[in-house]
Amino acid sequence: MTLFDSPSFAGHEGVHAFYDEKTGLKAIIAVHSTARGPAVGGCRMWNYGSAAEALEDVLRLSMGMSYKNAMADLDMGGGKSVIIGDSRTQKSPELFQAFGRAVHSLNGTYYSAEDVGVSVEDIAEARKATPYVLGLSDGKEASGDPSPVTAEGVYRSTLVAVRRLWKQDDLTGLTVALQGVGHVGAYLADKLHKAGAKLIISDVNQAALEEVAGRTGAQIVAPDAIYDVDADIYAPCALGATLNDQTLPRLKVRAVVGAANNQLATPEIGQKLFDAGILYTPDYVNNGGGIINVASELKARETGGSYDPEWVEGKLVRLAETLDEILERSETEKRPTHLIADAIAEARIKAGQAAKDAARKAA
Ligand code: NAD
Repeated sequence: MTLFDSPSFAGHEGVHAFYDEKTGLKAIIAVHSTARGPAVGGCRMWNYGSAAEALEDVLRLSMGMSYKNAMADLDMGGGKSVIIGDSRTQKSPELFQAFGRAVHSLNGTYYSAEDVGVSVEDIAEARKATPYVLGLSDGKEASGDPSPVTAEGVYRSTLVAVRRLWKQDDLTGLTVALQGVGHVGAYLADKLHKAGAKLIISDVNQAALEEVAGRTGAQIVAPDAIYDVDADIYAPCALGATLNDQTLPRLKVRAVVGAANNQLATPEIGQKLFDAGILYTPDYVNNGGGIINVASELKARETGGSYDPEWVEGKLVRLAETLDEILERSETEKRPTHLIADAIAEARIKAGQAAKDAARKAA
């Protein structure tokens, strides 16, 4: 199968392969859409089995960023990059400087940031070769760790679901089964606890579990037991694809609201959740807080300003409104939430492209 025939190609504007002989850099940058602004999405370093596997991953992730950025109502398109290699043994400052030169060659069409296997320090190395990177930790524009903002977005999404299902403004009397108390999950646990929720938590990291349980009184269960507990809401904040044919019959919850990416193992699971009467809040809407935080850095860069928490707050409010619109439409149109969310994202991208075409014509 050629690139253009691959289902993951999905109308990408550009797919760029880079090789640097000196450092051994092998990278692919995929630009899915610049309809709403420069393509923004992190860089993943992964020991892919083949270049074809890396290509498939970067295309899928890049398109996902177009949708996530549109749902967060950001003036940004979608893109992603991957570096083929083992992040534990094959990293060097020179490798990331070479990656920075690759990003720079795209003239600001694509902005990179950290993702799995790539740290803030690595991005700081890339920054030496290009201004087109985000998620820095120093300077007046820097947006720092996105996790607290991601957790705030997931918390507000939880409230949107709770208002609809239980007609209340806090989590009093409700139990949340929270999977993964890492960067996002730990912040989320604190917020849910403060809002009155009873927590049941699981993780593979015992120390993290005990820390969160100590602060919130959460009940700890074994990793696989989280699907069987008596809870009202399931909050996946660890792995992807935990909503699947094996877990669905075990879940007793009425809603799923979590930060993890790609929670639905297949799109059909979204339909099955809908048929089972479980309210699924689309992951790429809930977890948009992190990219909103990163976008604030881009905005500061473009306007010569600083990181602006008020602007971030405005976008978080809008994100919760978007989720509410999705849930409303799902109810009235009797269609699963993930399909409604995709339709809204596609309409926003299309509108961005129309505005871009009109501006080009007028110029
Ligand atoms: P993290 O690595 O800090 O936390 C993940 C936690 O899950 C860890 O504590 C890990 O031990 C735990 N875990 C791993 N396997 C598990 C299992 N089988 N059962 C239970 N727990 C398990 O990651 P994070 O930054 O908190 O992100 C969590 C999820 O949210 C990821 O899917 C990530 O892609 C997504 N996300 C994060 C952000 C962000 O701002 N950090 C933004 C958008 C989406």
